[in-house]
Amino acid sequence: MTDWKPIIGLEIHAEMQTQSKMFSACPVVDSVEAPPNSAVDALSLGLPGTLPVINKLAMDYGMMVGLALNCEIPPVNQFARKSYFYPDLPKGYQISQYDRPLAVNGYVDIELDDGSSKRIRIRRAHMEEDTGKLTHVGGGASLVDYNRAGVPLLEIVSEPDIFSAEEAEAYARKLRAILRYLGVNNGDMSKGILRFEANVSVMHKDDTEFRTRTEIKNLNSIRNMGRAIEYEIKRQIKLYEKGDTVVQATLGWDEAGQKIVIQRYKERADEYRYFPEPDLPVVEVSREWVEDVRAKIPELPDAKQRRFIDELGLGEYDAAQLVAEKSIADFYEGALATGADAKMTANWILGNLFAVMNTNNVSREDIDHIRITAGQFGALVKLVGDSTLNKGTAATVLEEMWASGADPAKIVDEKGLAQVSDSGLIDSTIQQVLADNEAMVQRYRDGEAKVFGALMGEAMRALKGQGNPQVVRETLQKMLAE
Ligand code: ADP
Ligand code: MG
Repeated sequence: MTDWKPIIGLEIHAEMQTQSKMFSACPVVDSVEAPPNSAVDALSLGLPGTLPVINKLAMDYGMMVGLALNCEIPPVNQFARKSYFYPDLPKGYQISQYDRPLAVNGYVDIELDDGSSKRIRIRRAHMEEDTGKLTHVGGGASLVDYNRAGVPLLEIVSEPDIFSAEEAEAYARKLRAILRYLGVNNGDMSKGILRFEANVSVMHKDDTEFRTRTEIKNLNSIRNMGRAIEYEIKRQIKLYEKGDTVVQATLGWDEAGQKIVIQRYKERADEYRYFPEPDLPVVEVSREWVEDVRAKIPELPDAKQRRFIDELGLGEYDAAQLVAEKSIADFYEGALATGADAKMTANWILGNLFAVMNTNNVSREDIDHIRITAGQFGALVKLVGDSTLNKGTAATVLEEMWASGADPAKIVDEKGLAQVSDSGLIDSTIQQVLADNEAMVQRYRDGEAKVFGALMGEAMRALKGQGNPQVVRETLQKMLAE
């Protein structure tokens, strides 16, 4: 196994979520919710005599992604016809881009689990149109839905710079996050709005050239992509070690069986007969256009992480967690807007809030859909900061906020949860605790230091968990010393 090194390149198809399709005014609809063939026009159906018109916003979105991925935007790009027959492609060709793509030569930095980072080069990103969707209903019959035909699609192709399933997952997560930050794609893989295809080969340590690669399609989550890649790497190594060879093929991931299935072998390179699309002009990209689009790019995860570290004093890892999704970063910054302390707020999101979300099966990126608003969360953190709540009662208040969506101050008032720092009440309560636990007090005075913890627990319980722990500890120490 150690003689082999995996080589992986990813191809990503991301729908650019505009109102209308790539080459006509036909509306784009939800591919699952909308009735089949309810959003089609003459263009989507590929009827003869129709003429495409380029969707400017889709080009803007694609360019925005290219810029976010540090690509060059060549002064000219051009559409081309990619000819093949399939029932989901009524024209008999797909309008794509070939030798003159929208964006080239970019890169993205990914973060790995061990805290290191790595640069993955982006070869190109080009615009095209999506195809329709086939549903195989059994009995040899298939249904076709052209709602998706003509939806703007950006294909992003990486160099084969990815050397493990872990790196592939990190790359996919980073690209998905960038698309979501840009607001051009919601990252929904289950609906196919974002699709990943993994090209996989392995290299022997004595090799000087790449070996045959296979291509895995139909990956409906990033985790499954990782599993499929791992499986495929092992399959290829096993074949070579047996003296067999790997045959170039398109593979699918069988989720139920957790295994690779071979969909079709490629006997030779696909012959698409690309030629320039005669019905569309070449697209000249002025530098003004590029700068207009660049100006619309929001702060991206890498820059945000840097700022959280440099300006807010967060650690590298905490900052990475908070910027991993735009929704989390927005929630965090919304909470800070209340004046809550930056580090404390980070700890409370990454600790208690994520734990509660986890218990309730809410994924982190859905933080913008929970009942607790960023402002309410900031208010809770401030109540801890000013010692109104101790950590234990604050956790209780958080649970209550989760369930009811109420303001923390209201919950504290109604339930009388405010922390007790009143020394009169703490003094009298501790006196009572000491009187009730004479045996323990004697053991402590006889030198058994660890009994202190038990007495502290009794005191906190007597104060219903609301005592200011520091005041309680000091008072207890003082009284025991008397
Ligand atoms: P094309 O689609 O034009 O044939 P390539 O085959 O060069 O282009 O690349 C398609 C994708 O496959 C890219 O993402 C690239 O990084 C990846 N790739 C190319 N060669 C290999 C290889 N030997 N192993 C794994 N991935 C590869
Ligand atoms: Mg390809």
